[in-house]
Amino acid sequence: MPPKLSGRCLCGAVRYKTTAAPLWTALCHCESCRRACSAPVVAWMGFAPSDVKWEGTRKTYQSSEIATRGFCETCGTQISFESTRWPGEIHLYAVSLDDPADYQPQLHCHAAERLPWLHMADDLPVFKAGADLS
Ligand SMILES: [Zn+2]
Ligand SMILES: [Zn+2]
Repeated sequence: MPPKLSGRCLCGAVRYKTTAAPLWTALCHCESCRRACSAPVVAWMGFAPSDVKWEGTRKTYQSSEIATRGFCETCGTQISFESTRWPGEIHLYAVSLDDPADYQPQLHCHAAERLPWLHMADDLPVFKAGADLS
């Protein structure tokens, strides 16, 4: 993936640019991600926070004891995720990219929670819970 990616929320009030390619990418099937986005699966990409430059104001919601989700207060689009489980990382939603076709997922994680009617015909590695990305 190219190092200079850019993305935005639905209304465009919150925008970001990255100065590095993602550290990793993953398709997450966990219930928390699904509910936050009302989507059957969520495409993620991880960055060092210093590699993401923001414009506009993100509101945050503490979605669990360890996780905070950022969103646009105008349109409600989910835009970022941070957790004490992954210190030194910020996770962005791949489909917020200006060109989501640039995205290349590496794997599926939390596949044990996959919705039974969602069938994805790819050859990516599948992790039942969290992926070992180290
Ligand atoms: Zn917005
Ligand atoms: Zn998840």
